[in-house]
Amino acid sequence: MSDYDVDLFVIGGGSGGVRAARIAAQHGARVMLAEEYRVGGTCVIRGCVPKKLLVYASRFRAEFEDAVGYGWTLPQSTFDWPTLIRNKDSEIARLEAAYTATLEKARVTIVKSRAVIADARTVRLADGKDVSAAHILIATGGAPSYGDPIPGIEHAISSNQAFHLPDLPAHVVVQGGGYIALEFAGIFAGLGSHVTVVYRGENILRGFDDDVRQHVRMDMEKRGIRVFTGCKVAAIERMGARFSALLSSGMHVPADCVMFATGRTPHVARMGLKETGVEIAKNGGVAVDEYSRSSVPNIYAIGDVTNRVNLTPVAIREGHAFADTVFGGKPTKVDHVNVPTAVFSDPEVGAVGLTEAEARARLNRTDIYRAMFRPLKATLSGRDTTVLLKLVVDGDTDRVVGCHIVGEGAAEMVQLAAIAVKMRATKADFDATMALHPTTAEELVTMRQKSATYAREAAE
Ligand SMILES: Cc1cc2nc3c(=O)[nH]c(=O)nc-3n(C[C@H](O)[C@H](O)[C@H](O)COP(=O)(O)OP(=O)(O)OC[C@H]3O[C@@H](n4cnc5c(N)ncnc54)[C@H](O)[C@@H]3O)c2cc1C
Repeated sequence: MSDYDVDLFVIGGGSGGVRAARIAAQHGARVMLAEEYRVGGTCVIRGCVPKKLLVYASRFRAEFEDAVGYGWTLPQSTFDWPTLIRNKDSEIARLEAAYTATLEKARVTIVKSRAVIADARTVRLADGKDVSAAHILIATGGAPSYGDPIPGIEHAISSNQAFHLPDLPAHVVVQGGGYIALEFAGIFAGLGSHVTVVYRGENILRGFDDDVRQHVRMDMEKRGIRVFTGCKVAAIERMGARFSALLSSGMHVPADCVMFATGRTPHVARMGLKETGVEIAKNGGVAVDEYSRSSVPNIYAIGDVTNRVNLTPVAIREGHAFADTVFGGKPTKVDHVNVPTAVFSDPEVGAVGLTEAEARARLNRTDIYRAMFRPLKATLSGRDTTVLLKLVVDGDTDRVVGCHIVGEGAAEMVQLAAIAVKMRATKADFDATMALHPTTAEELVTMRQKSATYAREAAE
């Protein structure tokens, strides 16, 4: 017990903050948590969960089409956006209540308020009330950023609004080439919108393996999504109830909705951080050490506000490790290597470990195994699609250092492959594993022929 009002004040009730608060309370700490919007944070309220529900909705169209080749005759299908949004909202409300109940059960005091740091031991609530705390955890996440200001930017929406549109837009322009942009492009296209993706870089999905990037683009285009790279939306003009996106290439794209998914900014502004001596890192997030401790010894930060690996399971791990370190007497670091990741676009992507380019820059010798084929399901449906499976192997040690999959079920496959990669499995271990037939994943253990071998590239 400290002389402070609480042992821990958590600012932000998202994935990381909720986990940290609960575990710290279970370790015996008196915990207060402030949330300015809704308990559950980005992932539950306007991120992973509602996004995946919309992804499920969008994929029924292809299922209905594919069913015909399998002998089904279906009545003309129709789709009702308000029903989807209503059902999604009630599931999100249920989850929010479940998160709140879990915190209350753990005896965490929840304050529905914005909170900022007044000094190293004091948190100030929106009504001006001060709460003293032995430790403060910043778990405020991030928010969509719109990039450089352009004329008409006020007409653009971000993912936050995309979850609450009153109607399904008939024509959508999505600016961005990252996972959120491509997921929403797939959602809108699957539900029936005409979608144009605009991305200023050379190709979509920067940071992913180059084969994956090419494959996803090719398959998205086959599904009718227009992808313009090397240009950006330069202005948005209102035209009655619609808009026109003027691209830097000079082209005008009419749209009912222009969505920007151009990155996210950590929530560090107007939080009293600078005044308290909490340093900001070059990446724009709170600077922390490997125990998530900031430059002020009793103030910690976890999750997206640190801009390390911005994924829910990482925020949760960091929150748990913080609580074990500070209140459980068990100093715990989080390993940020080999974090599996997915893009729930159409086609779906799953990836873990090094890309081919990263391996070739780091390893003496890199072996590449690659398979690309038409999945069995596409034979009778006649769907024009292929899956890609790729293993990146350290040629010296035979360790599988990267696994990249594009196609149906990619995320589920990579979650399991990530265990093998994390356990430092070798290609020989993969080969010794019996195939499970007929599956797509069996290709991971039956790729015998190397596609290529590379010696380390000379440093520039
Ligand atoms: C559209 C979208 C899809 C995503 N999909 C995935 C996915 O499929 N898989 C995945 O792993 N990750 C996904 N993410 C990322 C994931 O949501 C985040 O990595 C995760 O939510 C980070 O958790 P956090 O606790 O750091 O922050 P958050 O969950 O953002 O929580 C921060 C909370 O702090 C609150 N807050 C902020 N400032 C204050 C303040 N001053 N006072 C009080 N409260 C405050 C906010 O309201 C918020 O509730 C997605 C994100 C988005 C936007």
